[in-house]
Amino acid sequence: MQPKTLERWQFSASVLLPVILALVITAAAVLGFVFWSTANIDQRALERQSSMVAQVIEARRAQVQHDLESVAIWDDAVVNAKLYFNFDWVDSNLGAWMYEFFGHNRSVIIGADGTPIYAMEGGAAAASEDLADMAASVRPIVERVRAIRPAEVAAGEVPPPAAASDFMLLDGRPAIVSAMAIVTDSGELMQSPGSEAIMVGVLFLDEAAAERLNREYLFEAGRFVLTESRDPARAVYPILSSTGRFIAFFEWDRDRPGLLMLRQTGPALVAAFIVAAILVFLLLRQLRRSSSELENGRRLAEHQAAHDKLTGLPNRVSFDTHLADTLTNGKFAGAHIALLMLDLDRFKQVNDTLGHQAGDDLIRAVGDRIRAVVGHDMMIARLGGDEFGILAVGQHGPVDVVSISTRIIDSIGQSFTLNHFKAHVGASIGIVLAEGGSAEPRELVRKADIALYEAKAGGRNRAVVYEEHMNELLQLQHTIEGELREALRRDDQLSVVFQPLVDQHSRKVIGAEALARWHHPKYGQISPARFIPIAENTGLIEALGDFVLRRACELGATAPGRTIAVNISPTQLRNPRFSHQVFDILRETGMRPLDLELEITESILLDDEHISSQNLRTFRTAGVHIALDDFGTGYSSLSYLKRYPVDRIKIDRSFVSQLAEGHVSVAITQAIVTLAHAMDIEVTAEGVETEGQAAILGKLGCNTLQGFLFSGGVVPGRIAEIFADPANAVTRRRRKSAA
Ligand code: C2E
Ligand code: CA
Ligand code: CA
Repeated sequence: MQPKTLERWQFSASVLLPVILALVITAAAVLGFVFWSTANIDQRALERQSSMVAQVIEARRAQVQHDLESVAIWDDAVVNAKLYFNFDWVDSNLGAWMYEFFGHNRSVIIGADGTPIYAMEGGAAAASEDLADMAASVRPIVERVRAIRPAEVAAGEVPPPAAASDFMLLDGRPAIVSAMAIVTDSGELMQSPGSEAIMVGVLFLDEAAAERLNREYLFEAGRFVLTESRDPARAVYPILSSTGRFIAFFEWDRDRPGLLMLRQTGPALVAAFIVAAILVFLLLRQLRRSSSELENGRRLAEHQAAHDKLTGLPNRVSFDTHLADTLTNGKFAGAHIALLMLDLDRFKQVNDTLGHQAGDDLIRAVGDRIRAVVGHDMMIARLGGDEFGILAVGQHGPVDVVSISTRIIDSIGQSFTLNHFKAHVGASIGIVLAEGGSAEPRELVRKADIALYEAKAGGRNRAVVYEEHMNELLQLQHTIEGELREALRRDDQLSVVFQPLVDQHSRKVIGAEALARWHHPKYGQISPARFIPIAENTGLIEALGDFVLRRACELGATAPGRTIAVNISPTQLRNPRFSHQVFDILRETGMRPLDLELEITESILLDDEHISSQNLRTFRTAGVHIALDDFGTGYSSLSYLKRYPVDRIKIDRSFVSQLAEGHVSVAITQAIVTLAHAMDIEVTAEGVETEGQAAILGKLGCNTLQGFLFSGGVVPGRIAEIFADPANAVTRRRRKSAA
């Protein structure tokens, strides 16, 4: 997944989703509550209204009966309806009156024998032929009244008339029907119970009745209907007869205060939600923007903290972290891990001669070349300066880091074009191999550094795999200074051996080179390649050089005519008093300056020191010979020889070891010898190990040979014997006059 998409996804998952979810849940909860309370309020209102309707309908029924009482308990009514039936009186006082005053739709009067005697419909007396039909419609209620036996009458009290009322369907029309016996109001007209005429009042539950209810009780569009409405806005109340028979529904526009409230507050609520949603959206967008800015900043800072600015490669911090992760990660347990430390040779010289910009370009180019060799499977880091680290992990077997190292060294060995100049640098690589899960990172780095040190000490431009004994040597390095100081104070550890110099032509020993030896009681023989650099760095070289020179001169004094060569460090030569010290020793030992040859390295010629050249001139003036050691390594240039005339050059043993018939080094050596001779300089070849090399060197015209083929370094007593051997008698010495 792309980092951008990933980030977006993470933001959605961690922020957007919860917020939207919360918003939706809140909205749902609020809406749910609103609807619930709306429905709840409406339901309660309905219950309230329904119970009111029940009371109102019931009151209507009671009212109809009550209306009857106003005429049925009346002496005049008993007289005119029963005793002397008076149609006109009945029609105006009972029939029309009930219609006009109480709004009864129908009245019927039944005689004591059960025959109808009067009926009224809509305010007018009914025709006599309709009487029977109208009486038949109200018979049930009349029978209910007849069946009532009045209770025992307390003395003096008027008994209540037998009466009944109910909801009924008359000719399919819902109605309140009420019946009552017509009785005396004064108590003077006694009738035997069951013999009374019965007055029936009918109030149809029709449109007019509904209108009245609406008017009196403020129902909206109340109506009496026979079938229930399906409209949810209408409420219905079923009207049942006393026997439970369905008579009609009262139906009205239900009062919905909840809905009303919702209608009024709803738009505001929706608007509030929309505003809240917009705010949340804006907030989220801002949040996302700033969080992604923050994330980018964090990522950039993280990258900068973990990477080298110049090359863009990981830096030491991230290399160390990655190394520690790799070593401790269980995934790599048992994997083959190789740590390579690479250091450039001669980088400082490029930097000093071509400038820092060129140095930076070089470092970048080196990074690219390493990447080109190792590819992207290995981690490359710039550890600082001209140092690089490489981490290789072989999950299924060891990575061939030695051949990879060789390829890196070859690649870096190719010339770089910097600032329009061609520059050459080398690379030394220290390698340490380990197994995932079983190594400690810092220890591993230390070991790789030791291997790197060995690679440099072993002649540079090479890769060295760490071995345990190197560690001991390195430990020694730290204590070597103190040990050397101690060794210089005593006389049982340091010594000087002499390696014979052989005349190429006669194979006679014509001299010897003095080589310092250190036998440590605990570590045994320590190579000068190891302790000379330390002596140079710590100033101990003065004492050491003095010691070797004294031994060499002591030998030289006993063998006049033999050349005794002594190695001189640049540090020694830079000392203004050095020539005086040498002449003091020559005088003290009695050796002839002519027999002494000082071996210097070309770095002396390079650094252009005034004092060094002063010393060299002094020596030459006094007849001391100067030899240029290790010729063929580094910057060897015959042009130096013009500026600093020397008596001899010593072709380096690394060069000599390559000599074979037909090899290019033969032609080069030939050129060197020819040129040197043209400048009146003698040539010595060192490190001659085979007769083949000696033969080639002889053919090329080398003057002197030195090497294990003839002899290694030997103790002073032994070299004295060799000098004394008549076979090595010096007949003639080719000496130049002092310049
Ligand atoms: P160098 O001046 O090039 O000395 C010659 C080195 O080559 C010696 O190593 C010698 O033992 C070795 N050698 C001679 N013949 C052969 C051969 O046929 N094959 C091989 N492979 N090696 C051969 P050594 O004694 O270990 O000295 C190493 C270096 O230490 C010397 O290199 C020299 O630069 C320095 N050195 C030794 N003694 C002194 C000293 O007293 N003062 C100073 N300043 N440097 C010294
Ligand atoms: Ca030497
Ligand atoms: Ca040498």
